[in-house]
Amino acid sequence: MTEVLPVHALAERGPRDRARAARSGVAARPRVLFVSHTGTMSGAELVLRDAVRPWAGSSAFLFEDGALTEALRNEGLEIRLARRRSALAGLKRDVSPLSALPVLGQLGALALEIAGAARSYDVVYANSQKAFLLSSLAARAVGRPLIWHLHDILDGAHFGRVQRVLQVRLANLCAARVIVPSEAAARAFVQAGGRRSLIRIVPNGLDVDPAPCPAATLRAELGLPDGPLVGVFSRLAPWKGQDILIEALATLPGLGCIVVGAPLFGEDAYAAHLRDLAARQGLSDRVLFLGQRDDVPRLMRAVDAVVHPSVDPEPFGRTLVEAMLVGVPVIATDAGASAEILDGGAAGTLVPPRRPDRLAAALSGLFADPDSFRARTALAQERALSRYGADRMQRDLADLILQVAGQA
Ligand code: UDP
Repeated sequence: MTEVLPVHALAERGPRDRARAARSGVAARPRVLFVSHTGTMSGAELVLRDAVRPWAGSSAFLFEDGALTEALRNEGLEIRLARRRSALAGLKRDVSPLSALPVLGQLGALALEIAGAARSYDVVYANSQKAFLLSSLAARAVGRPLIWHLHDILDGAHFGRVQRVLQVRLANLCAARVIVPSEAAARAFVQAGGRRSLIRIVPNGLDVDPAPCPAATLRAELGLPDGPLVGVFSRLAPWKGQDILIEALATLPGLGCIVVGAPLFGEDAYAAHLRDLAARQGLSDRVLFLGQRDDVPRLMRAVDAVVHPSVDPEPFGRTLVEAMLVGVPVIATDAGASAEILDGGAAGTLVPPRRPDRLAAALSGLFADPDSFRARTALAQERALSRYGADRMQRDLADLILQVAGQA
């Protein structure tokens, strides 16, 4: 007989419950091995941190140490660090797979390490594409079901062809489920050759501190300028499109901007390019680079609008939801999941990607008539509260894990 556990009960189950469950023949909650290739906190790792909350007592296998280690430990996970720093860290997602040849031995050793760890767990849960590649071999070798939480858009803008083919073939062969955060990510997986029946769409969920505070007070506290101010809140990477916003600003005299985020995965040249671009456009005093911050929702409350200028399709975009929850108007490019999240433009403004002129026009419209955006922003907040909460995401993911473990 199996027992379906409500998500709130998962965290209460420990070894004693497992022993009791074993005696009574009732299924105890499964033990999950969460696998991540990176210790750096970008969106996918923030999602993982929130997703594991009901799974205290399970474990995480991390290829490298970093901020994620502490974050998962704080959620009650036991941390298993790979014995050697992963050679995968140096491999970029769009490079030729031939570049992996010299490090195949190390990758094999890492897959064996994951397989050794996976024996003690009921389900393996890979939280990234690189984690999935190695976990797929490992989980298959020891006969454990594998969930791939695919946080990416598997298209030509983000991955080379051979990588896409390899990933979907492995998924079709080895994954029990592929979790994606949006229809856009699901479509890309299927277009790349992935089996639709594997997919479950679980939109990312998050909470922000509900305490509102007047923007003027926040600006004074944060040392931000008066006057019209917008913000962009993404790691610095060419596909996040901060350069397009800077180009748009050059045509909008008097509008200030905060650029929040850092080059988390080696995009230092792009970060330097952004500063250079702002200087060349004569915008150094209007564009403030604030670096990586841990108070994004607070900063969002201090600006008049959040701009999300990605030039390639977004698999989700937590930043959009944060802005919606905070109640700030959002202007985003219509690429990937943005339209889904912003209800086709009813909950925010959509502009075509790579078009500084269209972005500038949308910003001008916003500052010319802020009242006309109020209803849209209220709708956005309601939508984010009802669809994109952390609780809902945890419940959906827990149900899936229980299903895969044969307990639902
Ligand atoms: N973020 C942050 N500090 C920063 C910039 C971004 O904490 O300086 C957070 C941001 O609030 C969001 C996440 O990083 O929660 C980025 O997630 P998103 O899905 O927007 O983008 P990803 O990095 O996954 O592509």
